[in-house]
Amino acid sequence: MRPSAVDLDERPFVLVWEVTQACELACEHCRADAQERRHPDELTTAEGKALLDEAREFGDGQLVVLSGGDPLARDDVVDLVTYGTEQGLRMTLTPSGTGSLTPPAIEAFADAGLRRMALSLDGGSAGSHDAFRGESGSFEQTVAAAEAAHDAGLPLQINTTVCAETVDELPAIRDLVADLGAVLWSVFFLVPVGRGRVLDPVSPEKAERVMEWLHEVSDAAPFGVKTTEAPHYRRVGLERADGDGTAAPDRDAIGRRAGIRAGNGFAFVSHVGEVYPSGFLPAAAGDVREDSLVDVYRHDELFQSLRNPDALGGKCGSCPFRFVCGGSRSRAYAHTGDPLASDPLCAYVPEEYDGPLPWDSPSDAVSAD
Ligand code: SF4
Repeated sequence: MRPSAVDLDERPFVLVWEVTQACELACEHCRADAQERRHPDELTTAEGKALLDEAREFGDGQLVVLSGGDPLARDDVVDLVTYGTEQGLRMTLTPSGTGSLTPPAIEAFADAGLRRMALSLDGGSAGSHDAFRGESGSFEQTVAAAEAAHDAGLPLQINTTVCAETVDELPAIRDLVADLGAVLWSVFFLVPVGRGRVLDPVSPEKAERVMEWLHEVSDAAPFGVKTTEAPHYRRVGLERADGDGTAAPDRDAIGRRAGIRAGNGFAFVSHVGEVYPSGFLPAAAGDVREDSLVDVYRHDELFQSLRNPDALGGKCGSCPFRFVCGGSRSRAYAHTGDPLASDPLCAYVPEEYDGPLPWDSPSDAVSAD
């Protein structure tokens, strides 16, 4: 199912459930600020199954990502994959690269009906990846898990964080993504939440060059490329295709809200059941223990405003690309407290716009590459 086939007012294209924050690793960029132990108030197995029942109400084939922390810190995660698959959900998993992710564990997920496994690689070598992940041996375990997924016939996705600390590793990681036979490379542009606050984002100019390079990779690679928290990748693609920057489509030409962003095709349920537009936009809009997830997604004021490109402020609100891009609402929130403000990572300034720019304020400045 493609995002364009989904009515994003009615259902998320991606529903993420953070099943736990527990994880053996202590990665520098961890959104969840992962903990050694499971939280005592985590959703139980029965509450998790009730959540999956509700996800089914969004419609056939709803995509559900079980994330963490490390989902394998829970002993019911295979059961949850089996249950979700039985409900007709497309279940996927983002485990951590640890010793728990053995070939038998991966085979059990494949047998349970898992559709895809996503592993993180933030360096092109053991030295750089393990330093970023805070655990020696993580690179080797991640590569072994990728090979085991291949052997089990499980499609593989590789997730990579782009920040000043990792950006020079991208060409080597691209080669690994190809060597490991991944079907998709998901490239996440850092949003300063959780432990990610201690990392340095790349500058808007550097982000622009990386996105141009990613389009070149996408043209040539045997795998797909997508960005996370960087919807201006779509604007860069349109400008690249058009050549002179006049490619901004109107809403009729390309359809409204085509891009997946926080609250617009994306929803996140935390380990204790809070509902957020994204794991990187920590403004709770409900709680699955008390509220209907479907109702929150469709009718909550914050979710609805995030789906309205005309509600955006600053240069994003004046931008002709806002219908296909709209900027990272999570990054706008992290920098200003306003989820509808401009995305400070985007270098594009609309021709007719003469208001304040997000990088004018020293407190909002994104660091240099
Ligand atoms: S100004 Fe905002 S809407 Fe326009 S391309 Fe940049 S991030 Fe996207």
